[in-house]
Amino acid sequence: MDTTACRVYRKNYGMFLNGKLEGKECRQLLRHIEECAECREELRIQYLLQEGMFRLEHGGTFDINSDFERMLADAQKEVRQESRRKMFYRGLMIVFVGITYYFVAIGIIGY
Ligand SMILES: [Zn+2]
Repeated sequence: MDTTACRVYRKNYGMFLNGKLEGKECRQLLRHIEECAECREELRIQYLLQEGMFRLEHGGTFDINSDFERMLADAQKEVRQESRRKMFYRGLMIVFVGITYYFVAIGIIGY
């Protein structure tokens, strides 16, 4: 299955592998490669190429396949933390607005 969606996601691989894909786009890409085996494979290949070249030059270890899985797990963790953080701030805002309204109401009643 090579849909238009797949091609859109694949355009973001470079940025994702360089850790520059953030927020919604990163979340969507991660979700897509969980469902789309072909895109996941494509990403793995790009990762292997990129990391392989780097390690040839710098003499790192060569267990890149498990590093790929670890990299994905890290990215997923990061995305989850990010949305949890956003939810927390949204909750905080609601409480803050509520308190403000409360004080306004008290003030109005106080007159
Ligand atoms: Zn796909």
